[in-house]
Amino acid sequence: MSKPVLRFAPSPTGGFHVGNARTALFNFLYVRHYGGRLHLRIEDTDRDRSTEAALKTIREGLDWLGIAFHGQPIFQSQNADAHRKAVDRLLETGHAYYAYETPEEVRAMQQQAQAEGRRVRYTRNLTPERRAAFEAEGRPKTVRFRVPEGETVWQDPIRGTQRWDNVEVEDFIILRADGSPIYHLAVVVDDCDLGVTLVIRGAEHLSNTPKQVMLFQALGWAVPAYAHTTLLMGPDGRKLSKRLGATTVTEYRNQGLLPEALFNFLALQGWSPGDDREVFTREELVEAFTVEGMLSKNAVFDERKLAWLNGEHLRLKPVSELLRTALNLWIDAGWITAEEAEARRSSLLRAVRLMQPRIRTARDFLNFEYFFNDPEIYEEKARKKHWKVDSPSRLELLIDRLEALPDFSEREIEGATRTLSGQLGISTGKLIHPTRLALSGTNTGPGLFEMMDVLGQETCIRRMKTGLERLGRKETVAR
Ligand code: GLU
Repeated sequence: MSKPVLRFAPSPTGGFHVGNARTALFNFLYVRHYGGRLHLRIEDTDRDRSTEAALKTIREGLDWLGIAFHGQPIFQSQNADAHRKAVDRLLETGHAYYAYETPEEVRAMQQQAQAEGRRVRYTRNLTPERRAAFEAEGRPKTVRFRVPEGETVWQDPIRGTQRWDNVEVEDFIILRADGSPIYHLAVVVDDCDLGVTLVIRGAEHLSNTPKQVMLFQALGWAVPAYAHTTLLMGPDGRKLSKRLGATTVTEYRNQGLLPEALFNFLALQGWSPGDDREVFTREELVEAFTVEGMLSKNAVFDERKLAWLNGEHLRLKPVSELLRTALNLWIDAGWITAEEAEARRSSLLRAVRLMQPRIRTARDFLNFEYFFNDPEIYEEKARKKHWKVDSPSRLELLIDRLEALPDFSEREIEGATRTLSGQLGISTGKLIHPTRLALSGTNTGPGLFEMMDVLGQETCIRRMKTGLERLGRKETVAR
């Protein structure tokens, strides 16, 4: 059997919507899993709405997501001759005809047809005399497809056999009065030229497919299979495109989201591995993807899940790569210079390792200023909860023990703290929480002992002493 040929065919008329990205991604997963070729075809026949900027955005988004194509992109506008030839052929074989209704007449005919509950009947068989008269009048001349009787049937690998009663479809224009082809015609000719065997696209195209299948049949060309993915819905149950907030790949990219996470997330919007796995690398998705796993039930775009997946993918990253990302943010924030970072590289790597389980987006690296600067404020809630009347005297004792440590390592710090809490007959938490507050100004974060090891003895002691001053010693703490 010959290899599958697929295409992703965006129109460069706006931002790169996540729904389009998902279509690209399913096409990509298909050819990577089953073999075959995936072409990028730019549907730029709408001259008024197509822009270079939109094309650039789409290509950057595709690159960023890691969706690659076979060969160079194809531009629909460059295939105008073939479009025109196909129209001629349909005219010659009687599958299409010239129509001379003016836009006003068309509107009136549509209104009447609607009132009578039938499709519009255009004048299919003009006598040569009427045609000549219309031409002489200078009326606009379009070409319409003569929709045949019967029904149009196609195989949808996701939705099963689809049947469309042709009565539902009126004779549609294939060539506008200005001589430009409409989308259905161009898409069919271009798909035939590429030898496309399978079209994977969004459910919003379902009503276009019968028209395109009819055109393929009238032209005597092999009809590809058409697979329509689910609609992408917002959590409010409305179509995602109508939603406020981020809906383009560029926006997610600018938010600092990982491309792997968006890729993973979009793959799960309309496909399921059949078990409860959710975190996949690109290669794992290629491996696990099957057409049978594609769903026809609407998918709900849940941003919390996207954020969670982003965290999971951050955890799969090598620490050295994360350090590069974090450093850009930290340098921008003015917490460290590139030279200082170079000198402190090994301790920064350890710091990143501590942060890695606690971040959901790369921007969360900005939650850890206390790895660089002494805290300026202590969170009120944390202070209420953990700074007790006995905290100052206990911390003073702990400072003595920590100052005496010849080796300020996680193990030694932990040992000293636990020994002290044992001697005082209190739980270790009674030392850990106030110490953390003094060190970081907050009550959440990595394990205290590893964190202290990374911060170093001098910094820890200094901050504990400052904490005593500012959080209050025994006499100033309310009971
Ligand atoms: N250019 C069309 C779009 O962006 C897609 C055409 C198709 O996939 O057949 O919606």
